[in-house]
Amino acid sequence: MLAVPPIEQDWVSRLNTMRTPLSVSNQPVLAEALEELKNHRRISVEQGIRMHNETTISGLAALADMVKRSRFGDNVFFNENLHVNTTNICTLACRFCAFRRGSRHEEAYALSPEEFISRIEPFSNSIDEVHAVGGLHPEWKVDDYAKLFRDVKLSFPGISIKSLTAVEVKHIARRSGISTKEALRTLLGSGLDSLPGGGAEILVDSVRDRICRGKELSQEYLAIHGEAHELGIPTNCTMLFGTIETVRERMIHLDLLRQQQDKSGGFQCFVPYPFLPDRTRLPEASLSSPEEIIRVISISRIMLDNIPHVKAYRMNIGDDMATIAIKSGADDIDGTVGHEEIMHEAGSMTRTDYNRDELARLVESTGQTAVRRNTDYTSADVYRSNGQIHRLELPIVEQG
Ligand code: SF4
Repeated sequence: MLAVPPIEQDWVSRLNTMRTPLSVSNQPVLAEALEELKNHRRISVEQGIRMHNETTISGLAALADMVKRSRFGDNVFFNENLHVNTTNICTLACRFCAFRRGSRHEEAYALSPEEFISRIEPFSNSIDEVHAVGGLHPEWKVDDYAKLFRDVKLSFPGISIKSLTAVEVKHIARRSGISTKEALRTLLGSGLDSLPGGGAEILVDSVRDRICRGKELSQEYLAIHGEAHELGIPTNCTMLFGTIETVRERMIHLDLLRQQQDKSGGFQCFVPYPFLPDRTRLPEASLSSPEEIIRVISISRIMLDNIPHVKAYRMNIGDDMATIAIKSGADDIDGTVGHEEIMHEAGSMTRTDYNRDELARLVESTGQTAVRRNTDYTSADVYRSNGQIHRLELPIVEQG
């Protein structure tokens, strides 16, 4: 079983010493939530719903920011990474997905290991992580990914491989005739370092049946992540919101992630992102307003007491919203990225060519400190946009 990375100390003790903003203390739902946290008690699904429906956004964001600061002070984490998608060919057809193509579609592609490596090459001196997900290719098996990971490690031994969502693991394990745990064990031995969290969508099967029929069930998503944690593979977890789910179903999702983290302890970072609509996919989606996006990020920070990091996924929400998110509970911001297809196919206009100075400036524009981390948050440097760097001692504690 994985321990949560040693990046935070006793945040509840620090929370108890912090000044409470008026916007929190004068709203009973938020004041009650703060008392629960100060007394090491968990925020319930019902309290989460009330926080969503009965608070002002300024008070909710202020409470989430308190919790974030009690954990990490002014620090906001980023890493230097590259997204490379392995294939857009997929045997499923999730209704929110703008990325997948049928195998005979003129835009369908499937990268060979050589092509994959050539995508990394131009970035290899500046990144420490490649983030690689893709569709469910009808022919690929565990051995195909094992070869890919071995080849990548041979070419770039210092680059961490974050790859394969839970449904990809399920798909290639089934095609290979082995269990998901056996698949993960083989991939770990071939160079896989961590799993991204994609594919959680909403962990309520009646919702999944309507938006992503055929994908793994909620309990399968959690079980595959649990197996990864048992093998020592850290993972992220996600939530796609603003499709057809209710507020209660969002809170159930957060609660299920907490319960899994209690059992297996290997979730590093929670990444919430709203559905990006177009005119063709999921016309019945409720869609999230900018305020609702911040509400979800803030509530995630307050409810997920045992998952250390919450990410402002700027590839999806954009840089402007991301700067609000890192003042409203998020402590991590998507890295340099280099290239991104899944959100951009769905309409994202976010730049993918930021260097670390530009990212640092984005964080500094909120009055906070940019901290360049490695993939598993086990080393970190304060990185200033004027180029100054200094190593942070771990665990990272409140600044000033
Ligand atoms: S979300 Fe993933 S599994 Fe679903 S259609 Fe798109 S690529 Fe395939």
